[in-house]
Amino acid sequence: MIIYGAGCLKEETITKTIWQYSEKLDGETMDLLRGIACDYNKVKNYAYDRYSGIKSIDKLVPGYEILNEMRAGGMRQQLGLPAVYFEMALFEAIWDIKAMWQNLKNKIMSLANRNEQLTADDKSYIRIVLKINSVYSAILNDRPYEMPEKAKGLCIDVKPLNNRIKRWTRKYKATPRSDSADTFRVTPGGYSYRNGGIRLVSRVERKRVFIPLKDPTPYKRQLNIVIMDDYIKIAVPTEKKVIGCPDNKNVIYVHIGYKDMVTLSNGNVYGAELQKLVLPETERLAVKNNERGKVYKAYLKSLDSGDAEKAGRIENNNLGKIKYNSQKEKKYAETVKFINTELNKMFEKEKPCRVVITAPVRFGRMTKLSRSAKMMLSRSFAGYIRRRIEQKCCEKGIELIKINSKDTGNICSCCGAVGIRKQLDFRCEKCGAHMPSALNSAKNIEKKYLNNT
Ligand SMILES: [Zn+2]
Repeated sequence: MIIYGAGCLKEETITKTIWQYSEKLDGETMDLLRGIACDYNKVKNYAYDRYSGIKSIDKLVPGYEILNEMRAGGMRQQLGLPAVYFEMALFEAIWDIKAMWQNLKNKIMSLANRNEQLTADDKSYIRIVLKINSVYSAILNDRPYEMPEKAKGLCIDVKPLNNRIKRWTRKYKATPRSDSADTFRVTPGGYSYRNGGIRLVSRVERKRVFIPLKDPTPYKRQLNIVIMDDYIKIAVPTEKKVIGCPDNKNVIYVHIGYKDMVTLSNGNVYGAELQKLVLPETERLAVKNNERGKVYKAYLKSLDSGDAEKAGRIENNNLGKIKYNSQKEKKYAETVKFINTELNKMFEKEKPCRVVITAPVRFGRMTKLSRSAKMMLSRSFAGYIRRRIEQKCCEKGIELIKINSKDTGNICSCCGAVGIRKQLDFRCEKCGAHMPSALNSAKNIEKKYLNNT
């Protein structure tokens, strides 16, 4: 299928997160980083508690007042936290508090819009005062304020409306809270890339802690440090120009499957036998989890019976998660690499300007799935594949269309009769069609899309 003249060039940039990984780090370095993350989190939670109330709304923009108050408060000295982390934690907290208020305003606006007792003028008033922070703050704090210009001609009774705004605010306002003490952010002033690694500001003045990186490409961005068991990963937000593919003219219809990664309606398959990569791992994990379950039960039993020595032995020998996790991660990385390589091949060979896939099927809470189906789903890479296709389309300026998957699986793509799916095979008794069910689905996606446009 070819659409002539359908160019894909878009002048845009998108944000893409690049991950950098450290080498394995010693316990001392890990403790230092964990300590910083922990204090960073304390600062955030303190700021949330102190500045997310209605009395602080006016301080949030531009935020210097908060910064000055917190600087003077002595918390930083007490924690012994370098200023670069302390202030970043504060900025992050202020940002979160602002986001909380914005969400709350959206919520109030949607409540107002749905409320049948309110007139159109009432709703306009609410919309106008929510948009002006100083007025909203004055209403919440019972302070006098000047009626906004736009609200002057409205036919409204102000007092009950203000009471309503106050009531909704009280009812739906949340206080942000951070429970993750294993991550912190750092601005370029707090790090430098050098000698194959990154040097981060430590708690000792003029002494930076060196962290060797697997890929020491330097960046000048606000970095997000994520602390793992014995290494760290660094999220680097980067802006990427959308490449655009003016030569791409094809439309492809993509079925995302379990056995083969993707099957196109033109018959091409990418990532054939993905299942072979995923399945042994699923089985290995099932066996492993089963074994671990038994060991864990024995562990609890010996704890119960007061056999602390035995419990300790089991804990040391069998419950170690490190080996288990590193094997799992290695397998995962392998699978992910395979998926990305195959998807790149697909984009290169098919030269699509438009990609049609099905929207993910949502299972309601009432849907009953078998244990093995649940297992398949939880270990399935379909979600990951979808996200990668979306990301790649975005980067390349390729149009992505998601259609409802209803009836793309069980209906014959040749004649439209209901056919029989047996494992990976599709057979139609009416017209005799016989093909892989993935291909049948891909063809149905094509048919459905073309019929609806
Ligand atoms: Zn048929």
